[in-house]
Amino acid sequence: MENGIFSRNCVTDFPTITYPTQQSLITGTYTGNYRKELCHGVPLSDWMGRDIAPPKLRCYASKDLQIYKMNEDLGRNCQTILETLQDSGNTSSIVQFINRGADYIFPENKIKLAFYYLLLSRKRFFLNLIALANTMIVQKLLENFKKPKKYFGNNEPPICSHLLFFTSDILCHAFGYDNKYYKLNLIHIDKQIGILISELDKMGYLDDTAIAITADHGNYRAGKTGSLTNFFEHNGLTHYHTRKNLKGNVNLCGFTGVGFFNFKGASSHKYGWSHPTINELKKYGPKRINLLESLFKIEESYLMYYRDTNNTYDKGIIHLKRKDKTTGNIILGTIEYRGTGNNYKTKYIDEDDNNDIFGYSNDDIASKLIDNRFHSINEWLKGTSHLDYPMYPDLIPRHFKNPRSSDIIISTDGNIVFNYEHKKKKMDYSYNHDIGLRKCAIVPLIIGGSKEIPHQEIPYCKTTDIVPTLLKMIGKKPHKSVIGESLT
Ligand SMILES: [Zn+2]
Repeated sequence: MENGIFSRNCVTDFPTITYPTQQSLITGTYTGNYRKELCHGVPLSDWMGRDIAPPKLRCYASKDLQIYKMNEDLGRNCQTILETLQDSGNTSSIVQFINRGADYIFPENKIKLAFYYLLLSRKRFFLNLIALANTMIVQKLLENFKKPKKYFGNNEPPICSHLLFFTSDILCHAFGYDNKYYKLNLIHIDKQIGILISELDKMGYLDDTAIAITADHGNYRAGKTGSLTNFFEHNGLTHYHTRKNLKGNVNLCGFTGVGFFNFKGASSHKYGWSHPTINELKKYGPKRINLLESLFKIEESYLMYYRDTNNTYDKGIIHLKRKDKTTGNIILGTIEYRGTGNNYKTKYIDEDDNNDIFGYSNDDIASKLIDNRFHSINEWLKGTSHLDYPMYPDLIPRHFKNPRSSDIIISTDGNIVFNYEHKKKKMDYSYNHDIGLRKCAIVPLIIGGSKEIPHQEIPYCKTTDIVPTLLKMIGKKPHKSVIGESLT
């Protein structure tokens, strides 16, 4: 940070959940309609594959190791940075499941890698194992440099490597960001990065190396945990579940502080679960309930997003609602989008001039963007990176364009968490990271290493800028799907 490029204001993806934030940062693009657009195909950690009958439930954390489907789920309309560089030299991927294009992958075998995660994600893990995991990640990479022949079959050290220090996420969920084990672990990771830098220096590689360090998301602490059982029963909603109930009429594919609800459209006999029209959402299920109103009865829910009926991949409307926390009044807004790839722009409209959904109208800079015009991602970045819900008018439609995304999204402000994943109730963790507040959506970024990297503080940037920045440093062009831009 003291010698290279850094930013205190790097905006991650929507939603601020491990997947898709990591996909975006490794590919340099966002999600969208992965069949028709240049983008990646992963909207969430848990989603419903609705185009087949019966629909398929994807859960990357499931015991049947669906996490291995992630590389395939990305689709062919994007590239990981390792794929972009595959023909330029050796590439390696250390403890990272998104590893398409890697010539060397550690651990070498799938079961071992899964064992790692499973063992460490239990609450009764061993702290010395956590420390060992951090050490091993750096040692493995250093071995790639020391003995390239053994790992790549030739004498060239890797041109690009990515490493995931996954232990900080595990410790944060289990103990919290204010816990001493969490903090000690960060110090331990910092120490390992120091070892990496000094060893690269000793081998003479540091002058040709750029090291980018970032996070996929931040975090928050909820005051309490809630239950949705009564809400479902009262409204005639029953869970669809591939093993237990194929007849259910709702799939809640995840709800900690933000809920992602799938509902079954009327034309579903042909396609699995089609996305319901707005009229269908207004009289849904055996009780003909208006979901667009009744979902706000969920405790502490205050934001709602859903797509318009005739949206396509390059044109459409997302409807927004906010329930005023004191008066209970509903404030309306919309995001209109058009175009795709680098021509994609969005227009954010509030129906009440001084009281918009994301609170931009109270800010001198951001309020100028509520001008009934279409704006690019970089305009949203510049105008909202200092606020809560940064870049949301750009990011939310990208998410809804993906056919794997849900029908209605509900957000709390993080006071309560529900801990649902598909039908199941998960362990009650109160430390989470899915809401749009700055503490979740803003991450730090450091790009250091070689003395040739200019020393510069970047006032704002986005995680998708990392891939094109690194590629530019070695004179390579990014894949055509990349949305981010070089920071140099
Ligand atoms: Zn997490």
